[in-house]
Amino acid sequence: MMIVMKEGASEAEIAHVLARLEEVGAIGHVSKGERVTVIGAIGDREEITSLPLEACPGVDRVVAILKPYKLVSREFHPSDTVVHVRDTQVGGGHFALIAGPCSVENEEQLMAAARAVKAAGGTMLRGGAFKPRSSPYSFQGLGVEGLKLLAAAREETGLPIVTELMDPRDLDVLIEYSDVIQIGARNMQNFQLLSEVGKAAKPALLKRGLSATIEEWLMAAEYIVKEGNREVILCERGIRTFETATRNTLDLSAVPVVKQASHLPVIVDPSHATGRPDLVLPLSLAAVAAGADGVIVETHPNPEHALSDGPQSLPTAAFGDYARRVRELAEWMGKRLA
Ligand code: PEP
Ligand code: MN
Repeated sequence: MMIVMKEGASEAEIAHVLARLEEVGAIGHVSKGERVTVIGAIGDREEITSLPLEACPGVDRVVAILKPYKLVSREFHPSDTVVHVRDTQVGGGHFALIAGPCSVENEEQLMAAARAVKAAGGTMLRGGAFKPRSSPYSFQGLGVEGLKLLAAAREETGLPIVTELMDPRDLDVLIEYSDVIQIGARNMQNFQLLSEVGKAAKPALLKRGLSATIEEWLMAAEYIVKEGNREVILCERGIRTFETATRNTLDLSAVPVVKQASHLPVIVDPSHATGRPDLVLPLSLAAVAAGADGVIVETHPNPEHALSDGPQSLPTAAFGDYARRVRELAEWMGKRLA
């Protein structure tokens, strides 16, 4: 249920509604808009409707949110959410250009990539320290050592760090060294992981599952936001279809569909979506044109020798040119990169 307060409703009136909700074991999530405050009530629907909320001072109306996702819906929060990561922002007109290697391999590799991303005007550095690999025999990532290298790269370049969390037991160490917690496609419905990230005071980047519908993806985001973490960036990274010409099929219609349904920023990962470096630029431009709030791209100083996802990585030598083209279109679309 959604309790829409009257314009100018006081803090005391808002607190009173929250207290009434608490009486029936429901939790109110407050969303302050430019004009009105909306309280999303999560709890037993019958109990909530039994409350005389419309009679409470400052309440304008009580409406049901029909979608299964509530807190991430546009109905609950009509304006775009802007996610703050150190001194950069994503969403609401702010475009994120996130790039870096698939995995952190060693200091030399990571620093070469980080410097190239910085020089090209990238806004964040990506790199996996804990890697979800299809084969248990493949390189699994450097773990905490990789996180320390990422933090050192941030120290030099100032770029905030995006890195993947696979196991809730690693959450504290990720919080210590990184800035955005990535939840990978394979873990999109790992509900315990989502809830733990929901309790963390760090922005999350939630990738769409390999075969997840948009509704399932938004429900996964709801798991995070329900716990109190509102800083969620959604990432479309391609879904599995019958097509084999590309690694996955980039569902670009997901961008405007999700942006209509939700206030959360949506970014696109053309590297995992296509598996092909020659498609990274055209699909990044298409993502920008479709209204994406950013892209996340794999780039490596020497893709031929990469320990993971080399074949799809842009060589860092080509990254500057790529970034310039993406920035030009993003700016033409009225977005700011910073
Ligand atoms: C990655 O970002 O390197 C990754 C493993 O992505 P995804 O979860 O989208 O496959
Ligand atoms: Mn990868």
